Amino acid sequence: MIIIMLGAQGTGKGTVAGLISEEIGIPQISTGDIFRKNISEKSALGIEADKYISKGNLVPDEITVPMVDDRLKWEDAKDGAILDGFPRTIEQAEKLDEILSKNGKKVDLVINLVTPKDEIIDRMLTRRVCTNQDCKATYNIKLHPPKKEGICDKCGAVLKQREDDSDPEAIKKRLEIYEEKTSPLVEYYKNKGILRTETISMSINRMGTDVAKEVIGEIKK
Ligand code: AMP
Repeated sequence: MIIIMLGAQGTGKGTVAGLISEEIGIPQISTGDIFRKNISEKSALGIEADKYISKGNLVPDEITVPMVDDRLKWEDAKDGAILDGFPRTIEQAEKLDEILSKNGKKVDLVINLVTPKDEIIDRMLTRRVCTNQDCKATYNIKLHPPKKEGICDKCGAVLKQREDDSDPEAIKKRLEIYEEKTSPLVEYYKNKGILRTETISMSINRMGTDVAKEVIGEIKK
């Protein structure tokens, strides 16, 4: 089963993807996480990608698409994957369709998370991530704090704020790019009849965990 997480930054895509991945047993593939791991390891891919990521721009398709193509070939993804952060443009969605169809696969479900803009910015500023690149757990100091301040519950490593989350200019840029380049994917997948839109907001007391629970229940039926 191939699931795509769609939605602006800070809507909780990673949280929902992580919960579904654990329960269904298919890997969560986050392009942002793969880039961050490469940046921390100072690999050639990481050094190149950082030039774009630090400014809030998209990493070019020549780098991103082969990286996803390669990751989908890993043994753990033979029964499917949850893509978190890819595709981000119509071109990437079309390339993904090509990659999957070569292996007799297709996108089965697209979960589109929608959150009011003021909440999104607050969530990005209060998000903290585990510095252990093999763990990558995500917290929110207001909504989902770790048990011990600044320390990951899962692996004990130090938590930090993502660099692109601490720069208001980069945040603004990322949200603009989302509106311009990624939001057309909502229509793209709606037309394919596989889109499931969910509002995540404090104001209606509906969080990512609620959505994940429902989706998991439906997949397991
Ligand atoms: P994320 O963790 O999904 O917010 O991604 C962090 C950053 O990685 C983004 O702001 C982009 O610069 C880059 N990135 C992640 N996924 C993609 C993608 N599918 N295409 C291009 N750039 C990406």
